[in-house]
Amino acid sequence: YCNGSSDQSESFDRIPPIQFTKLFINGKFVDSISGKTFEAVDPRTGEVITRIAEGDAEDIDLAVEAARHAFDHGPWPRLSGFERGRIMMKFADLIEENIEEIAALDTINVGKLYAHGKVLDVPGAARTLRYFAGAADKIHGTVLKLSKGLQGYTLREPIGVVGHIIPWNFPTVMFFMKVAPALASGCTMVVKPAEQSPLSALYYAHLAKLAGIPDGVINVVNGFGETAGAAISAHMDIDKVSFTGSTEVGRKIMAAAAASNLKPVSLELGGKSPLLIFDDADINEAVNIAFGGMFFNKGEICVASSRVYVQEGIYEKFVNKLVEKAKSSVVGDPFDPQVHQGPQVDKKQFEKILSYVEHGKREGATLLTGGKRVGQKGYYIEPTIFADVKDDMIIAKEEIFGPVMSLMKFKTMEEAIKRANNTTYGLAAGIITKDLNVANTVSRSIRAGIIWINCYIAFDVDCPYGGYKMSGFGRDYGLEALNQYHQIKSVVTPIHDSPW
Ligand code: NAD
Repeated sequence: YCNGSSDQSESFDRIPPIQFTKLFINGKFVDSISGKTFEAVDPRTGEVITRIAEGDAEDIDLAVEAARHAFDHGPWPRLSGFERGRIMMKFADLIEENIEEIAALDTINVGKLYAHGKVLDVPGAARTLRYFAGAADKIHGTVLKLSKGLQGYTLREPIGVVGHIIPWNFPTVMFFMKVAPALASGCTMVVKPAEQSPLSALYYAHLAKLAGIPDGVINVVNGFGETAGAAISAHMDIDKVSFTGSTEVGRKIMAAAAASNLKPVSLELGGKSPLLIFDDADINEAVNIAFGGMFFNKGEICVASSRVYVQEGIYEKFVNKLVEKAKSSVVGDPFDPQVHQGPQVDKKQFEKILSYVEHGKREGATLLTGGKRVGQKGYYIEPTIFADVKDDMIIAKEEIFGPVMSLMKFKTMEEAIKRANNTTYGLAAGIITKDLNVANTVSRSIRAGIIWINCYIAFDVDCPYGGYKMSGFGRDYGLEALNQYHQIKSVVTPIHDSPW
């Protein structure tokens, strides 16, 4: 392992300038009404990078007012879909012109590998915008031939002012997963980034303005969940809330929506996703898939393959190779191209993960590798693998949201399906086998929103994504996502003297 000190980072001169630290309301960067600010911290060192304007309920009110005005009176919902799409394409072009700077912002803000930001997250944002831009002029209602004497049609209308509350693990991906379909649909919005990850969202607000998105359409209010976030979910003038985050907060958002104006909500919540590896799997391929499925983005990914079930025939061989791979993984400065895993997002998350490692040891699981911090500075943790994990241990049940994998052994497909489904979550699952029948049977039997066969974390903007059970409801990505931002209106008219 590299050690996680900040020394190495000084040899990389890609630290971006931080241009935007205020709130973005009605097309302008403004201070919060209270004048309060909070710290943005670099997880590589634990040091403060800058201070960010802290929005609260009164700032959310201003942002909602701007979004409401832009919706009720502004051009955005009234433009043709084609015209909205054209502006979104321009937004995507501007992102592509600034990939390195934005990727570096996410790296210093949440510890994401710079190489991933540059190749995956930020270009993916442009791709997501273009995908939904292309859909903006293909949003159609249906024509209804009703009972005799009546005919009708449906209109798909933008739902109105949307509140997007997003987490920190993929600041860029989450921003566009929410914002792009809402823009295409003609909605206006207030985005609350996670308090840990405000930097790229503010940069995107700036680019949206340059692209020609009218003032008030996208507002970004940074702040904490219990204050700014809660003000969104309880707001009487927000027409819909789209949330990604923990199951615990998802419950609060739904309750606040119910207690206020009954706004619809969509919730993308936590997971404890199973990966089932069968005896006929190619072991090297299985090791790569399982490793990437768990340790990608330092395990801070809601679909992480945190429960790996391995059939008994290949168990020993698989485990040995997996541990070898984990031991050769390089933890360190996320700007360093040789590094595989950067720091966890913040001190709280870092401590939470290490406390789960202690739980695992106390409950009697076998720690095969990892389990310790790396270096003396920053929030680096070794890739950690536990074997002999029982399905009812805390580390097998609760979402850790860090680089900690639980390994379990199984005998039959039926047993594996049953144990895979033995969770309150239902976000994702993976299957590794060459047997098509096994792959198809398991795919149909597991209650989760996405199933990956012989791959894992294979996302595409054209593929709907969301949870079953306590992983939430609603679908982001794919044309399905547009449904979250529309109302369907039926228009009915009599047709006189028609024999049809
Ligand atoms: P979190 O739920 O604590 O926070 C998410 C967002 O909600 C943040 O913006 C936060 O400020 C806000 N928030 C917190 N309390 C709130 C409240 N009372 N009212 C309104 N908003 C509030 O989650 P986190 O710790 O930032 O992120 C980790 C969680 O997100 C994990 O559980 C993970 O599985 C989940 N996640 C899910 C997906 C998915 O697509 N399903 C994707 C990424 C992360």
